Amino acid sequence: MNSDEFRKAAHSAVDEIIDYCDTVQDRRVVSNVEPGYLRKLLPSGPPEDGEQWADIQKDIESKIMPGLTHWQSPNFMAFFPSNVTYPSMLGELYSAAFSAPAFNWLCSPVVTELETVVLDWLARILHLPDCFLSEGEGGGVIQGSASEAIATVMVAARERYLTAACEKLEGKEKEDKRNQIMGRLVALGSEQSHSSTAKAAIIAGVRYRSIPCSLEDDLALTGDQFQATLEQCASEGLEPFYLTTTLGTTATCAIDRFNKIKAVKQNNQSFQNIWIHVDAAYAGAALVCEEYAHLAKDFAAFDSFDMNMHKWLLTNFDASCLFVRTRKDLTSALSITPSYLRNPFSDNGLVTDYRDWQIPLGRRFRALKIWFVLRTYGINGLKAHIRKHIMLGEKFAGWVRQREDLFRILTPPAFALTVFTLALPTHEGSQLPNGDTETKVNECLGTSNILPRTSTDQMERANALTKSVYESINAAGEIFLTSSVVNGVYAIRVVSANEKTDEEHLRKAFDILVKTTEEVLRKQ
Ligand code: PLP
Repeated sequence: MNSDEFRKAAHSAVDEIIDYCDTVQDRRVVSNVEPGYLRKLLPSGPPEDGEQWADIQKDIESKIMPGLTHWQSPNFMAFFPSNVTYPSMLGELYSAAFSAPAFNWLCSPVVTELETVVLDWLARILHLPDCFLSEGEGGGVIQGSASEAIATVMVAARERYLTAACEKLEGKEKEDKRNQIMGRLVALGSEQSHSSTAKAAIIAGVRYRSIPCSLEDDLALTGDQFQATLEQCASEGLEPFYLTTTLGTTATCAIDRFNKIKAVKQNNQSFQNIWIHVDAAYAGAALVCEEYAHLAKDFAAFDSFDMNMHKWLLTNFDASCLFVRTRKDLTSALSITPSYLRNPFSDNGLVTDYRDWQIPLGRRFRALKIWFVLRTYGINGLKAHIRKHIMLGEKFAGWVRQREDLFRILTPPAFALTVFTLALPTHEGSQLPNGDTETKVNECLGTSNILPRTSTDQMERANALTKSVYESINAAGEIFLTSSVVNGVYAIRVVSANEKTDEEHLRKAFDILVKTTEEVLRKQ
């Protein structure tokens, strides 16, 4: 493809992309192809001779579209959103053109320098403590995903812990001691932590323990539970070296009790070296708004923080922004410099080499799209985007509350996410006394683990009904939702936070929920 052909092809592709974005709401939101559908549509190998772009482009609609679930559709209310906007697409386009696997500063100085600058901008607008800025001992780095960020900091935590424990030893003695301690290391997360912490423990070769959370505590990790787990580990001869704490858990957007977790670490002399990571993959975006800034006030006591701009902050996948308090912790763990990577700038410590802040060597120019997004929307535009969804989420939760005959909210709605179950029909004895909905749900569904036998039966019935409504809605395909099982309760999650969402879309979703629920209950 020469330049003229590219110009024509790119214009045509951009036109098609714009049409797609403008009409995405008219498509069935969730793909309903059968597994293996694509192999039947494609030839058994690539063509002998090259094809024309026009022929290739035709296959977007006929072969690719059927297998796409439309995450940008306002009818997509599943998982968490995966925002994309035109400025971030432009960032990707330039990044593709410059295609620079900029592992060292020298590879393309701007790739490193822009990343450092935009991540400092981001740290400030997220109201993170100054210790996470590159001007001090900390700094930010763009990772591919929140999972990658967790695996990376867990390895850094492990190395920091082992280095401190073997500080005074040398040679074989050091190696033996290191291996002995390795067998006792345990990474911690809460029962509500994203599965990426358990996966990171596999990657880091350490044990993993999850700390219980209860519905009484809104599924947040509490200081008491953290303390109890530390003591339990110590009594078993294990050495906790890492904890993931979460701002906005995947199932219900719970917020761990950061101030209590901080106090536990500060008050336990023997756990001073434990690395605490804040996983704010989705809800971290809300920190741009002053009304959420207080959530970040304890983070200076923690070691790292990560949020995905590619979930809720208008930037396409991938843009996971990891901040560390002490960048040396990362570079000491991950820096290996063979001769072919050496250069005077790096050797003299004049520059940042982001390869030492991550697992892979090469990296994409992802700072461009973040830069374009921050400049196009401005701080006020970002705040408006978040506040709009928070407001819509509250409206939705309000409608759910009004239909107490049909639904029960499970945990306090947060960050545009509402998590709820079906209410059992009155004749089944689950009609609850008047009062606050959340409290009643907790009473009904059992926030303590000790449920009377009858309540367990009711919970199983409610679970079956909720599942049935959830499955019917997704099978119909007008909207796309996800479900969660939390402490034995089957719940539906509705989160609508992409750029195209408006009240009308949430109202439509609510009406579908009511209609489907009434149908399911009628059939019982
Ligand atoms: N952490 C939380 C709280 C999440 O909700 C998710 C995904 O939704 C992740 C981590 C994993 O994100 P990623 O796909 O960027 O690895």
